[in-house]
Amino acid sequence: MNIRVAHLYPDYLNIYADRGNIAVLTRRAALRGHALEVTGVEPGDVLRPEEFDLLYVGGGQDREQALVAPDLAARGDDLRRAVDTGTAVLAVCGGYQLLGRGYRGRDGSWLPGAGVFPLETVAGETRLIGDVLLEADLGDGVTTAVAGFENHAGRTLLDAGATALGRVLAGHGNDGASGLEGCRAGAAVGTYLHGPLLPRNPELADWLLARALEHAGGPGVLEPLPDELERLAHAVSAGRARSRGGRRRR
Ligand code: GLN
Repeated sequence: MNIRVAHLYPDYLNIYADRGNIAVLTRRAALRGHALEVTGVEPGDVLRPEEFDLLYVGGGQDREQALVAPDLAARGDDLRRAVDTGTAVLAVCGGYQLLGRGYRGRDGSWLPGAGVFPLETVAGETRLIGDVLLEADLGDGVTTAVAGFENHAGRTLLDAGATALGRVLAGHGNDGASGLEGCRAGAAVGTYLHGPLLPRNPELADWLLARALEHAGGPGVLEPLPDELERLAHAVSAGRARSRGGRRRR
């Protein structure tokens, strides 16, 4: 099958080579006989989100976020409709923040968000940096340990009743205090973990791919892959998070 992916703002939001996540999805789809068709979307481009099975937004610093925020906010209604009808989303760090209602910078500026996730973000005085391990809840009783790296000044607060991506086992997570990381709304996932995230978290990669396949009209099931290297990478990352995650630095 063809899986249609819209990659939002690849020229602006690609910190820590976040586009590596797309490479992982492409490869894991190909190994199961499916093709990923990736369309880059920059500010001002036409985007009909319902014509895509998965939307991807990477991370970026405040400066890059400010350049895309008005464009993204203007697409809010379209994006929410797509998520409501099962389009999968992966949004990382700066992209995650901008899929909430908005981001308050250190200088007091307000960047409007798309309002896909029920949350807001406010920049703090310190940066939350380090390896992270979380117990992700993907719904329907599916849980998986997700390992990665975070580097953000923003503190993200979920609305009451919002669903986090998971519970922090090691590291800072959304705000360094709540013990929660990321947000999930149906098949839409936002997270602070990047670096990139999917090479070392094959279960999350396949969950997203399966949701996108379902949206494309295919079966939401994928044959397992050996994932030996991926599991090793996950173990190294998880071990680092356990031994040194969650330190606060300026
Ligand atoms: N605004 C962001 C911050 O908190 C962006 C971080 C990112 O994407 N790395 O700090």
